Amino acid sequence: MTKTPTHKTEPIDADEAELRRHLLDAQLPALLLALTHVTGDESLLGDSPRPEIALTGEPQGGYNDGQIETARERCLDALVRYRDRGCPAPSHPTPEQLHRWLSFLVEEDQLDEYGPLLLDELALDGPETRAPRWRKSEIAPERPFTVAIIGAGMSGLAAAVRLQQAEIPFVIFERNEEVGGTWHDNIYPGCRVDVSSHFYSYSFARGFEWPQLFSPQKVLLEYFKSCADSFGLREQIRFGTEVTEAVFDEDAGTWTLSLQGPECQTDAFEANALVSGMGQLNRPNMPEIEGMDRFRGAAFHSAQWDPNVSLEGKRVAIIGTGSSACQFIPPVADQASELTVFQRTAPWLLPTPDYHDAVPEGLVWLFRHVPFYAEWYRFWLFWTTAESMLPAVEVEEEWPHKERSVGARNDETRAMLTEYLRGACNGDEALFAKMLPDYPPFAKRFVRDNGILPATYARAHVTLETEGIERITETGIRTRDGRDLEVDVLIYGTGFTASEFLMPLKVVGRGGRNLHEVWDGDARAYLGITLPRFPNLFLLYGPNTNIVVNGSIIFFTECEVDYLVAAIRELLEGEHRAMDCRKAVHDAYNERIDAANLRRAWGAATVNSWYKNETGRVSQNWPFNLLEFWKQTRAPDPADYDLI
Ligand code: NAP
Repeated sequence: MTKTPTHKTEPIDADEAELRRHLLDAQLPALLLALTHVTGDESLLGDSPRPEIALTGEPQGGYNDGQIETARERCLDALVRYRDRGCPAPSHPTPEQLHRWLSFLVEEDQLDEYGPLLLDELALDGPETRAPRWRKSEIAPERPFTVAIIGAGMSGLAAAVRLQQAEIPFVIFERNEEVGGTWHDNIYPGCRVDVSSHFYSYSFARGFEWPQLFSPQKVLLEYFKSCADSFGLREQIRFGTEVTEAVFDEDAGTWTLSLQGPECQTDAFEANALVSGMGQLNRPNMPEIEGMDRFRGAAFHSAQWDPNVSLEGKRVAIIGTGSSACQFIPPVADQASELTVFQRTAPWLLPTPDYHDAVPEGLVWLFRHVPFYAEWYRFWLFWTTAESMLPAVEVEEEWPHKERSVGARNDETRAMLTEYLRGACNGDEALFAKMLPDYPPFAKRFVRDNGILPATYARAHVTLETEGIERITETGIRTRDGRDLEVDVLIYGTGFTASEFLMPLKVVGRGGRNLHEVWDGDARAYLGITLPRFPNLFLLYGPNTNIVVNGSIIFFTECEVDYLVAAIRELLEGEHRAMDCRKAVHDAYNERIDAANLRRAWGAATVNSWYKNETGRVSQNWPFNLLEFWKQTRAPDPADYDLI
């Protein structure tokens, strides 16, 4: 892994002119914090305006030009002083200092509540701040205990690292021949993450030198591969192996797994705990459109991209305009001779001017030379995306304009996003009308945009088609209004069967209960992690753990992994074979989740989305703030479980 030095930064020998150049690329609020840390000079913060936290991410904290200039001069002065003192290592801040520095970003009343979480996330003691502080060898050296993890994607690898740190034996079963999960499967052109790279990364593997502000798929795959290598996980991964069935043995308190290995070999494995890192967004959703099987051209789903099909000079149709499609529409348009995009529901575009930008050179230089800037920068990204957008998804009961928004802040957001879209459509009123969503912002997942999507639709050979599809023919698509479109290649950007958690795995718990029969299409879990009658089964990225506007899913997964590791500690220390979530606890929790989701834009609005399952319940999303999830996942409350 290419390391970005944090504590061990390089000494500065740049002259003032060079420093000025690098500072042009700095995100100043984070740099002011880092330089206060480095120099101990709190006037850097005291004399600077408190940064604003804006909906769309505001690298300079809402500073106006004059404030930016002044902040830059202050940073320059601090850098010169630090350089001239020979770049001494900064001393560790006292709790009082940290409190004062954090209050530059965080309101005082929030600081009391969020303090422990913020210090955890800031991790000034190093990336191992959140590592387990106990070892199996210290608490249960003689007890055999093995964990089976399904999937070597983002979640499975996170679990493996923490289990390894607690010296708990584990095996990962991965159906692919490589790690990476969704970042391995999705190779469509333009695929990238829509969370900032420096935040969409593990708290324990921060040193990657990200080339782009929002990482493309290849870079993310490289990151997850490098994590598997640097933590020595590959030996514990059985690649090319699918877990087809998991049956709980009540007497032994273990899970027996049926495995389908390379060349169809079958095998079995016994584990004391079973962890699903199977993900939500990996089973392609193929629509049921009449005639699909009769199409004679090439056709594939975005997650099963066929690189052997050349799109050069071809007539291409794309069905769907979700996050995936909106990423591959522009590069497909560059190749196709004609492109028609079938849009059923317009997505809201979230303005992100730097979406495709490289990490600027000056920023890279500052990470390399200013101690702890990387930490403060990540922390700045974390805090500015943590809870700031939540008010914009809140439902106001008495809100009079329910047809367009769910509350005043949601309505303000709607106005802002509408203005952005109007500008991006560049006077093309017909395009603007087609692209303007008719439902409240955040009722569906937003799509980041730097202007490229409307610009692509405006190209002469590209058509945004809003007429529905009547059927697929041998040679193309017939629209509902009776037009026939000739097509060479058909691409389904139709998403995933996200709410079919753990499919197609057969899971049998206590009393022979089949998990999918219990769920009956309406998956639920306690904290998204555990389920009554399925002891020692832990789900990562399970029901109601998806986040829409706050934070990164990696943060959530790490919380779930903390809970898993603490649960295993409980089993080992208490000499229990198994822990079974109490049904009353599970049910009360889910009632609370359901009620809260109805007070969010995605629950209140009637628009369809992958956040809801076939019963119409929001089965994917976490409706509360990050702090609540973090607090609830520090360790299981033994009172929530029957300990067997
Ligand atoms: P998606 O958001 O579920 O979008 C599926 C699209 O296909 C929608 O536009 C949907 O229309 C359309 N569709 C489905 N069935 C159809 C049918 N029968 N006829 C016509 N249109 C149909 O799926 P996705 O784009 O793959 O994204 C899923 C999630 O993955 C995202 O929300 C995001 O969380 C994640 N993701 C993230 C990134 C990123 O980080 N940038 C990239 C890709 C995916 P309707 O809206 O009308 O249903």
